[in-house]
Amino acid sequence: MRIMKFGGTSVGTPDRIRSVTQLVTGTGEPVVVVLSAMSGTTNSLVEIADLLATGNPDAAQEKIHSLELRYETVVQSLFETAQIREKGREMILNHFNYLRSFMQDLFTAYEVKCLLAQGELISSALFQFHLEEIGIQSVLLPALNFMRIDREQEPDQYYIRENLLREMERYSGNLLFVTQGFICRNAYGEVDNLRRGGSDYSASLIGVALNASEVVIWTDIDGFHDNDPRYVENTHAIAALSFDEAAELAYFGAKILHPSTILPAKIAGIPVIIKNTMDPGAGGTTISERSSGKGVKAIAAKDGITALRIKSGRMLLAYGFMRKVFEIFELYKTPIDMITTSEISVSLTIDDLTNLAQIVDDLHHYGTVEVDHDQTIICAVGEGIASETTTAAGLIKALGEIPVRMISSGGSENNISILVPSTFKSQALNALSSHLFTH
Ligand code: ADP
Ligand code: ASP
Ligand code: MG
Repeated sequence: MRIMKFGGTSVGTPDRIRSVTQLVTGTGEPVVVVLSAMSGTTNSLVEIADLLATGNPDAAQEKIHSLELRYETVVQSLFETAQIREKGREMILNHFNYLRSFMQDLFTAYEVKCLLAQGELISSALFQFHLEEIGIQSVLLPALNFMRIDREQEPDQYYIRENLLREMERYSGNLLFVTQGFICRNAYGEVDNLRRGGSDYSASLIGVALNASEVVIWTDIDGFHDNDPRYVENTHAIAALSFDEAAELAYFGAKILHPSTILPAKIAGIPVIIKNTMDPGAGGTTISERSSGKGVKAIAAKDGITALRIKSGRMLLAYGFMRKVFEIFELYKTPIDMITTSEISVSLTIDDLTNLAQIVDDLHHYGTVEVDHDQTIICAVGEGIASETTTAAGLIKALGEIPVRMISSGGSENNISILVPSTFKSQALNALSSHLFTH
């Protein structure tokens, strides 16, 4: 069993959808195809939801209309027979009538989730109709029948496996299954999602549930690059990464993978392969147990970070201080990313600001609190780099005059993290690439 996930660009036009068909057929083993929404759709749905939430139904209506026109064009050019074209048109109309039904005063968080789910529901139906039209046998598995998160927003792996297997057993002998990425139900049975970029996560959860031989993430670039190609020129694809390396890079901002994708695959020992839909012959990146040598493999950056410095004159020798500080973050369910300490103070970073005011209030019991917004974690990743003697020094030297707010090394063997103001992000990424990867 192989899982193949296709991102937004990979299903972004009728031609792209046709190419996906070639990639998923003729592999000789059962395949589950996990699809994202067509590129730009989820962003448009987020904008529509924002307009509705802020009381702008007319502007929302206009956006819904232009998105609908786009899909009408897709239906027109993707399908060739009158019968499937009609089926496609009807499906699009149903989804857009549903979107229009949200034009009411009360617009709840639950309704936002229902609205955001439409992109994947449409792309998977379009793909399924296309397969039907060209005579390829396949089954559409509704993700809402098996993908579920629990009360802690974590995937309910037992439920996913049981329900996915039950759905698939109804079609024994079928070799091609199609399903939606990103969307799921929550513990209350409501429509929910795995957060932006979540189709990668869907694919790895499905891979684990089915004990797949591999999970292939088909995207718009030829693999995991050594730096963020949106900020740095001349980045290169990395042939092999270990699970730990890839997990750290994804967690620390490499947009190519949803941050949670790797962990389930690592636990189950299922390789994750990144391939380019536009250039299927290119090698791509294989993420597996195996690492490929020493040194920094790649740099990633995570924006939207806030740093807090808690300074207490009484911290020196005061055991229990850290526990009290951490308990505050636990109370407000706010994860901490980086942490550095000195004798009298501790600096840490968070990216969820929902409860920042209460957190700062509570921290004031233990000392003064400084808050710096708009920071970026720059993260260098490579097996064992934290214990290499010259690596950290080389990184800091390469940053030159760029102000560094925090440095963290040794927390993980594989990661050296540096916090800089976000205005220096691009400069920092480029400086590190020149230092590390220009040969
Ligand atoms: P998809 O729609 O297929 O899920 P994404 O846009 O989510 O694709 O992810 C692919 C994009 O991630 C690339 O086009 C690239 O701009 C960006 N990206 C950021 N960091 C990296 C990296 N280290 N390697 C490759 N791509 C990266
Ligand atoms: N369509 C969703 C998004 O844009 C999920 C995904 O593409 O992975 O976030
Ligand atoms: Mg993505």
